[in-house]
Amino acid sequence: MSNEKYEFFKVIQEYLAKAARVVSLDPAVETMLSQPKTEVIVHFPVKMDTGEIKLFKGYRIQHSNILGPFKGGIRYHENVTLDDTKALASMMTWKCALMRLPYGGAKGGIKFNPRAHSTGELQRITRRFTHALGSNIGPDYDIPAPDVGTNSQMMAWIMDTYMNTVGHVNKQANRGVVTGKPVASGGTLGREKATGQGVVHCITEWCRESRFNLEGSTYVVQGFGNVGAHAATILSRFGASLTAVGDHSGYLKSPEGFNPHKLMEWVKQKGSVAGYPSGQAISREEFFATKCDIFVPAALEGQIGPAEARAMECRLVAEGANGPCTPEGERVLLDRGIAVIPDVLANAGGVTVSYYEWVQNKRSESWTLEEVDAKLETAMKRSYGEVVNFARERDVDLRIAAYGLALDRLQNVYRERDIFP
Ligand code: GLU
Repeated sequence: MSNEKYEFFKVIQEYLAKAARVVSLDPAVETMLSQPKTEVIVHFPVKMDTGEIKLFKGYRIQHSNILGPFKGGIRYHENVTLDDTKALASMMTWKCALMRLPYGGAKGGIKFNPRAHSTGELQRITRRFTHALGSNIGPDYDIPAPDVGTNSQMMAWIMDTYMNTVGHVNKQANRGVVTGKPVASGGTLGREKATGQGVVHCITEWCRESRFNLEGSTYVVQGFGNVGAHAATILSRFGASLTAVGDHSGYLKSPEGFNPHKLMEWVKQKGSVAGYPSGQAISREEFFATKCDIFVPAALEGQIGPAEARAMECRLVAEGANGPCTPEGERVLLDRGIAVIPDVLANAGGVTVSYYEWVQNKRSESWTLEEVDAKLETAMKRSYGEVVNFARERDVDLRIAAYGLALDRLQNVYRERDIFP
């Protein structure tokens, strides 16, 4: 794993350049989209449980708001960098455009390890970050959401802090300042599992097209957080068997298959898959070489390079994470006949249901789980079909097709609106 050297933002710019050629993007539009519109960097002090004051570095990168308010998650991880956040923010622009959501793209993060902090410290860090961002976020301006290392509880703290500071005049109208909130605090049913559910919609569409039967098939999942765990439990309902898993703590196999529900409970209690009773510990190399039908990378970027791609023995890679395949890794997979459903499509279920939450907040409505699920299914299947058709028509891979469709939609708006002044 050459994570240190992985230049994520450069990779995303290269995908942009490649897709730009496919859709004959106006060079001026390409130039504008090659960098974020705004880069906010804040340093803020937080009192630790010991009384010690620590300084934290936080980012909010706002890539584009040509299609609507900036939108995207907030990541808590010790490796958060400016460039990676720029890459992730750009990807949100493509994702929202691809899904036809009235949003632009953004991403934020704080460079720290959330596992090393108490709940009290996490709350104070989250609230001070929200305070430091001030009016750089807002329900019609920039709407954060969960990402790696953050969850619905943290979104509730962001909402509460925003409502009590910047947005105190019109409290209720500010509920939509974040999505991915707990349901009782204005979240929506179906948001928690939405990203994993979207990954599975893509997988079942691929299976339908490839005439592949999920019943009796095998899958492996890297990363057992919100995305990986939900994708795993939903896939198991189709009669597929989870034979290997891994996360920051290491990798496990179970040739007879894990119970993903029990594993999810274990991770909730213990914080990782480590020590799960029916799992046998395996190396990272063994994990990637596990023979299976479907591989779901749902951890971090840059995980599948050429070495992993050469070792992998699967038919399909469905990118639950953002950027899990390097361009070289993806090339090897495609050359070996392994299909790749790209991140901006595969994991777009999360932001899609975030949009449903935001609409419900605006209208003071609460939709049933069935309504949310049905809307998400329609949206995912429509986009999947559009990407596959575009790829066939233009003879490009699915990633470039997804980028191409997004860029085409962005370019149309630039054409109509032109540049101010
Ligand atoms: N962080 C998620 C993503 O990468 C969700 C973003 C959102 O819901 O706004 O797509």
